[in-house]
Amino acid sequence: MNDSLRSEIIERQLPSRRLSVSAFTEEGLRIYANTSIARKLYKCAECLGDITIGAEHTVVETLRRIEGYTHHHLHQECFWENTLPNLGRLAIIKSTGTTKKKINRRRYR
Ligand SMILES: [Zn+2]
Repeated sequence: MNDSLRSEIIERQLPSRRLSVSAFTEEGLRIYANTSIARKLYKCAECLGDITIGAEHTVVETLRRIEGYTHHHLHQECFWENTLPNLGRLAIIKSTGTTKKKINRRRYR
């Protein structure tokens, strides 16, 4: 089931503005992948290359017990090629946005 969802995520070029990806890491942590426009220069967490200002890219938020949500910026291709293969319990969901406020609002609605 995860394999077909993985191909679907890549074929549909997700995450998009309307759809996010929810999944769990190998350590059992929940993540949300959203799309975002870079407001400053970021380094990709996978390839360490630049994500230039204005570039559409993927933001992966990880829910941790102690720190709360932490997030990483990634090239979308790096997310598909390097992050996605290590994720389980994949789901395509309505976009959560990229701030934890939005996610909290969504959780308690
Ligand atoms: Zn990259």
